[in-house]
This record gives sequence, C-alpha cells and structure tokens, in this order.
Amino acid sequence: MAQAHVLGLPRIGARCELKFAVEAFWRGDTDLATLQAAGRDIRAANRRAQREAGLDWITVGDFHWYDQVLSTLALVGALPERFGAAPAALTLADYFAAARGDARHGAMEMTKWFDTNYHYLVPEYSPRTRFGAGTQWLFEEVEEALNEARNVKPVLLGPLSLLFLGKEKGGLADRFSLLPELLAQYERVLARLKAQGVAWVQIDEPILALDLPAPWRDAFAPVYARLAPVAPALLLATYFGDVSEHVAMLAALPVAGVHVDGVRAPAQLETFAAQWPHDKVLSAGVVDGRNVWRCDLARARARLAPLAETLGERLWVASSCSLMHCPVDLANEVRLDREVRTWLAFARQKLDEVALLRRSLDAAEFAGAEVCAAFAADAAAQAARRTSPRIHNEVVQKRLAALTEADTHRASPYAVRAHAQRAWLKLPLLPTTTIGSFPQTPEIRAARAEFKRCAMSHLDYLETMRAQIRLAIEKQEAYGLDVLVHGEAERNDMVEYFGDLLWGFAITEHGWVQSYGSRCVKPPVIYGDVYLPEPMTVTWSAYAQQLTDKPVKGMLSGPVTMLQWSFVRDDQPRELTALQIALALREEVAALEAAGVRVIQIDEPALREGLPLRECDRAAYLEWAVRAFRVCASGVADDTQIHTHMCYSEFHDILPSIAALDADVISIETARSDMELLGAFEAFEYPNEIGPGVYDIHSPRVPTQAQMEQLIEAALARIPAQRLWINPDCGLKTRDWAQVDGALANMVAAARAVRSRLAAAQARAA
Ligand code: GLN
Ligand code: ZN
Repeated sequence: MAQAHVLGLPRIGARCELKFAVEAFWRGDTDLATLQAAGRDIRAANRRAQREAGLDWITVGDFHWYDQVLSTLALVGALPERFGAAPAALTLADYFAAARGDARHGAMEMTKWFDTNYHYLVPEYSPRTRFGAGTQWLFEEVEEALNEARNVKPVLLGPLSLLFLGKEKGGLADRFSLLPELLAQYERVLARLKAQGVAWVQIDEPILALDLPAPWRDAFAPVYARLAPVAPALLLATYFGDVSEHVAMLAALPVAGVHVDGVRAPAQLETFAAQWPHDKVLSAGVVDGRNVWRCDLARARARLAPLAETLGERLWVASSCSLMHCPVDLANEVRLDREVRTWLAFARQKLDEVALLRRSLDAAEFAGAEVCAAFAADAAAQAARRTSPRIHNEVVQKRLAALTEADTHRASPYAVRAHAQRAWLKLPLLPTTTIGSFPQTPEIRAARAEFKRCAMSHLDYLETMRAQIRLAIEKQEAYGLDVLVHGEAERNDMVEYFGDLLWGFAITEHGWVQSYGSRCVKPPVIYGDVYLPEPMTVTWSAYAQQLTDKPVKGMLSGPVTMLQWSFVRDDQPRELTALQIALALREEVAALEAAGVRVIQIDEPALREGLPLRECDRAAYLEWAVRAFRVCASGVADDTQIHTHMCYSEFHDILPSIAALDADVISIETARSDMELLGAFEAFEYPNEIGPGVYDIHSPRVPTQAQMEQLIEAALARIPAQRLWINPDCGLKTRDWAQVDGALANMVAAARAVRSRLAAAQARAA
C-alpha cells in the first residue's frame, strides 16, 4: 500500500499567529517564553492536522521563526560571521538580528525563493566562514513530535542547495570549496536524527529544477554517498520543475527515495516510474502546493494508479512542494462566494486530498462508501467549475477573439508621440514626478477600515479620501513638481484594490501566505474571465485633475504584476489570463483618457520576477508579458503619455524587453544601488524617456539636494537630458509626510539646479 505525506506546511498559523507573536517579541511587548509557546502551539496544530487527515508521515522541521535557509545556517553554525554570534549558543535574538539587521550590521540580503513570492535570506560565504555545531532547535522539535508518535519525518534543506543558494563574499573564490566542511555538519545532524529514532528524513534539493552547472550536478553522487551511510533513510525532494534530465543520476544515488513535482511537470512521473530501481521509494507530488484549486481527484488517481501498479508500497503520494505557499485553511473563509469556495482547497484541505488519494489506490477502499462519496463530491465540483457562468464570460471571449496585431501597437512611433506630447504638456527639461502613492497615514487606514466594516457611510468615506487628494495636490504644487498624482489614498494594496473591482477575481479574508519573515500577503484568487464592469480609478483621478492646472498622472497596476501577485487559474495558460487582465485595463486606460487624464502610468514591478526558472522558457514568457502590457497601453492617442514603473529587481538582463513595452516614460528603481543599473545602458541604449530613481524611499533618511544632484549628474552621463525624468525609486506610501516634504522639496531643487547648469552650458556653447 502506498504511503501519504506532504513536503511541509505553512508555519504562520491559521490566523497569522506567528506574525503577531514574533512582532510583539521584537517590540519588547512579550518575553521569550510567550514567543516559544506560540511556536509550540503552531507546531502542535500542524502535527494534529496531519494526524487527523490520516497521513502516514508527520512532517516536522518545517517550522522556522523567520526563514528555512536562515534556520539551516543556524543549525550548521554558519550564520554570517559579521554578526559575531556564538554558533552553538545562538539565541533567537541573534537569529532575528541576522535576519533584520541590528544597530551595527545591515540585515542579510533577501531574495526570491525560486519562482515563488517567498523571500529567503541569502547565505554569505567568505574565506572566514566556518561550520560547526549550531542550534538544537531541529532536534528539540523532532523530540517534541516523537513524544506523540513514531512516524515523524523531519525535513532539512540539503547541503548542495544551501551552498548553491548563497553568495560569495569577502574575496572567497568559490563557495563550492566549502562543501567538505559543510558535509561534516550534515553528517553530524543526520546521525543525531538517526540516534533520536527517526526513520526517514526528507532532504530538499530544489536546485535540481534549475539550469544547474555541471560541477554542482556531479557533486550529488559523492555528497550522498557520504551522507547516506550515517543517515536515516533519505527522501531527496525536488520541486518547482522538471528534473527528468537527472533521472539516471537520481536513480543511482544511495538515497532511499526521491520526490518529484507532478504538478509542474506531470510527464516526469512516468519517466521516473519506468526506470525506477526496485529498492527505492518514488514520491509523486500530485496535489498542487503552489495554488489554491482543489485537486481533481479522478485525474490525479488516474495518474497515480499505473505508478502504484509498478511501485506498490514504494509509491508515496504527496503534495507537489511544501504547502507553505498556499493559505492555511479554507474553513476560515465565511464571506467568500459560496460557489467559488467549492472549487478551492487550502493547505488543511490539501492534507485530506493527499490522504484520500492514497486510500483510493487500494481497491477495497476505492470501492468503499467513504472514498466513493468523496470522489463523487469532487467530480461534481470539478464539473460545476468547468461549466460555471461565473467563469465563462462571452463578452470577454469575443473581445479576445477580436484582438488584432494592431491593438498591440501605438498609432505612431515614440518620436512622433513625444512631439505631440511635448506640445501640450510643455514640461521643462528634466521633468519631476513621483511614482504614485503618498503616505498611508493612520487616519487613512482607519477610514478605510471603518468603511469596510460599514461603520462609515459611503459619502463620508468619499469626502475623507477627497480631502486626502486635495492635500496631496496642494503639497505637490508647493513642492513644485511638474507631473502630479492623486496619491492612492483609497488603495490598500496595488493588486487587491483592482481585484476587488474586477469580475473574475475573488478576495479572501484570511488567505495569507508568508512573503518573508513576519510579512504575509493575501493574494487574490483569479477564478474566471476577467471583466471590467465599470471604471475603477476615473473618479479619483479625474477629481484630482480638476484641482490643478498641472497634469495629473492616472495610476494602474499592470497585467503581469496582477497575475504574478495572485493565485491564478489552472484551467487556462497564464498568458491567456494576463491577456484578459490587459483587455480590462485597456478599457480603464481609455476611460481615463476620455475623462481628460492624459498621462497614465501602468505599474509593472513584477515583470522581472515572473521570469521562468529555466533559460529555455524565458523568451516565450517575455514575449507574452510584453504583449499583455502593450495591449493595455496601445489604445490611446499619440499625445496621451503612457508611463510604466519597475522596482524590486535587477533589470540588466531584460532591458530589451523593457524597451519593447514601448512606454513613453519609465521610472525605475536605481537610487538604492547608486545608479548601478546605468552601467547596463552602456551596452543598451534605452530608446524612450526614463526616470532612474534619485530618492531611496526604502530608507527613512531624507536625501539632500546635493546627493540627488549627484545622482542626476550620473544619470546625465548616460541618458540625454531630453529624455531624462527626475523621480523617487518607488511609491511613498510607507514614508511619513515630514520625510516626504523634505525629500521632494530637495528633489525639485536638485532638478532645478541641474536644469540651470544645463541652460548655462547651452548658453555658453551658443
Ligand atoms: N504606484 C505604486 C505606488 O506608488 C507603485 C507600487 C510599486 O511599485 N510596488 O505605490
Ligand atoms: Zn515601485
């Protein structure tokens, strides 16, 4: 009989308990014992959920106070040495200091975990990096679980992934050279787990789904030959992609089993089963750990049944990856549309699905009443979803079908448009603007919350927001900015705000997932054809435009960003969903233009992060992503100016695609890295107008006029003055007004100073 398990659970708690406990501890409001108790409760609840679902293995070691990579470093005594903490005596306070920085040291760098929206802390490897005995936390958590039951399966990030995902610092030539010393620690950890009585350890090596350099791939055999003899049975887990190119290597490893992702790459299940050794377990991840849809049980069973035939009890039924990437429990969603709810499964429900699938592989169980009823209920839900009018919108389908090549091009090339835009905008050289949001003050948040609770009338709410818009416009006029914004007071979040207003999107109440540390996000669920019932932003932007003679820039989130930061449909390709969002936004753009808002920004901060893990998939992604943007931006007249904005990523490698968006103006984050991006413009000249950020909005520091003048001068060395804009790195919603007042006044002064120097130079030349 097959066995059932998952690769890990969310650790944030059903009501974000971890977030609240950790943040209270950081503020000094609670003590260590209270924090420890909160962690214990979450772990106990997760074990209980797995037990209740009837899984054969209780996965532990997936609880982390901040991040799994940081915890693994702590376990092998390798936190960056610059923090000076004693590895074996590492406290939670030391651990948090590395994650968040302290008075003397900046935080560890953070980057995205593969192609998820989770961010891990990047290990720092230097010539001084030492490995040794670290924290006891994992062993304590294993003990805690063993006290309840014996079928405990700890999960551990593997040594090759831990090393590969880090960065060389302090002149270290190659982090690969640290492998022998690191392995000694893995031997120690695995031997200790074995001594504790653990039978299986899940060791994650997700780097196998990347384009892995040969030396790293070749290291798997010797590394696992060294670890296997001292370890409990090892289940080497891969996920997030196809690893079938490694099947022979994996089959020959001295591990007891391998897990492969059967959702991202279903075909590899057969590839593996066909050549799988008779003494090894194959774990098939068929329940999607990355999305919120309920598993199509019949389809998953059809895929598993032949595997069960060949593998028998060596088949393990699993989630595709850790469930930490989906929300905790659908049972908490009471306000969600009743029909949509029947199509969903969050982490808690996915445990049941895995258990049920395992049971269904047993002929007697499959014929039994319980499994039969569950399969029938699922089949009904799947059928209903396939045909529901909630999903299929004929108007959207017709518009999609009518889309032509011409819809993806502006009427004229940039040079012609720029001329038409200059004629009415009459902007000075080096025009100044901002990215969209202004401080989200406690009053604004309170008003939004009250309105949502129905404790504030619609009119009062409108008036409160309008007062904020008036304030923002007055302030921008006083700073002397050239292109103004309305300030986005009405928006809680740049995706949820639009998701709430578009058909085809559902907003959950408690669908939180961890983004990093204590930070959680609540992605909307895109379940149906995306349709714009009425304009979403026109009243706000048009109101702002009435208040001033300066141009006011309308503000939208772009199709790729909305897609990236939502749970997306699994019944059609991502690119089709992106295109639907783009069509809806195209109408919004037209409505803004018609209302006299003729500078419009479409934000795409997530364009770069959507890039697929494998090089071979990237060109196709960039092509449809660019097309989606162009569909929403191309329906306007030549003299309407389209802006876009990007941040959070390094853009060097996708500059040609950014240029292909053909926005008239792009504002892009560069201040934080001291205009490092400009180096890339040596090799690639950006053809349209560009505003490299001159104010790092992530810092509470108010930059001086001189500092910003310097950045402007640096930009002028690479970008002609006629195409250079002056703006901050990103929106200002996280800053307070005092900081914004200072920074923007200085920014405008800096732009004016450089402008007059340019004018003087020109006069001299003439
Ligand atoms: N217009 C948005 C803002 O200013 C952009 C946010 C973003 O880039 N993430 O807040
Ligand atoms: Zn930004």
